[in-house]
Amino acid sequence: MTTRAAFLGHGSPMNTLEHNTYTEAWAAFGRSIERPKAVLAISAHWYLGVSAVTSMDHPRVIHDFGGFPRQLFEFDYPAAGNPALARRVAELVEPTHVALDDHSWGLDHGTWSVLAHVFPEADVPVVQLSIDATKPLAWHRDLGAKLAPLVDEDVLVLGSGNIVHNLGAIAWGQDGQGYDWAQRFDDDARELLLDRPEAIDQLAGHPLLAQAAPTPDHLLPVAYLAGLAAARGEALEVLVDGCTMGSLSMTSYATAA
Ligand code: ZN
Repeated sequence: MTTRAAFLGHGSPMNTLEHNTYTEAWAAFGRSIERPKAVLAISAHWYLGVSAVTSMDHPRVIHDFGGFPRQLFEFDYPAAGNPALARRVAELVEPTHVALDDHSWGLDHGTWSVLAHVFPEADVPVVQLSIDATKPLAWHRDLGAKLAPLVDEDVLVLGSGNIVHNLGAIAWGQDGQGYDWAQRFDDDARELLLDRPEAIDQLAGHPLLAQAAPTPDHLLPVAYLAGLAAARGEALEVLVDGCTMGSLSMTSYATAA
């Protein structure tokens, strides 16, 4: 077994507490790898105008949502940080500047909702890398390529978002079903990721982009995996797929086992 890199479609924060097809696939992924030294998570929910990486010893657990049950607000994921990895990330991506954040962010639910299943004991240190909202998809793919050496350093690079994520079009109660346009965008993304991950930036010109990703925050994390896989010449495989609630894709990918 070796370390793999992945993108997990996180969907509703409730997946933290639930056990379903998606969470079982995330757990199976965790069991398919040797325990890494640390996780570098790229979560849709740390989306701001700069690049930053969490560099504290003990990142706080951020409950960045509203309207969910108390049990979810009380959920704790007490993973340690890894300041040395944060510095390593900043060094790897030079000349792009990545700020070391030792006080403002922590672990948000994009990260812990999936890690709750991948590493339920919270015994692997976690560092988060923000998504610079000012940059295009190709830039994020290229940053992912620069992170490729981390795989050999026993770091799990983990994107967390959703390839299709349109909250305005959510069909509540339509579990396991997607609109035709959502399925089409997800299918086209899959074709690129499996055949030509380096061409993932073509999604930026996709005719359904405005419907599938009205804001790019949930789409961008997969660009990191695409860039990393292309740089390493590694194929990607689907861990679990499908749309749910009409306008969410839960499709998840990892470098081949
Ligand atoms: Zn989300």
